[in-house]
Amino acid sequence: MLQIKNCKRCGKIFQSNETFDICPICKELDEKEFDKIKEYLYQHPYSNMYEVATNLDISISKIKRYLRECRLQIVEKENGFLHCECCGTSIQSGRYCDECIAKLSHGFKAAFKEKEIIAHKAKFHYVPHSYR
Ligand SMILES: [Zn+2]
Ligand SMILES: [Zn+2]
Repeated sequence: MLQIKNCKRCGKIFQSNETFDICPICKELDEKEFDKIKEYLYQHPYSNMYEVATNLDISISKIKRYLRECRLQIVEKENGFLHCECCGTSIQSGRYCDECIAKLSHGFKAAFKEKEIIAHKAKFHYVPHSYR
């Protein structure tokens, strides 16, 4: 199903089939840029973020996006560049550290259960008639 979306990269309105948040033009540029990073890292293994960004003229924030999307991964665990959005621990890719992923998925389930219990309680809530 086609949807109208705002491209996350250039802001233009485009038709998307749900999976993409960026327009086809940006997608192509994105892929090309990503290929450049891949190629660079292949030729210069263990380059740091700033070298890649400066030599390829790609913004750090874009590299960070690739990291968040798990398309790139930082070699060192303690990198001080990418942090878990929940607890702030250094992570190599994605948005959360393993510990928080485990905690979060557990938390979601717990919250859902609690809601269910409240809903059940509401159903059987006793209404006293003695006020009349
Ligand atoms: Zn775009
Ligand atoms: Zn965490």
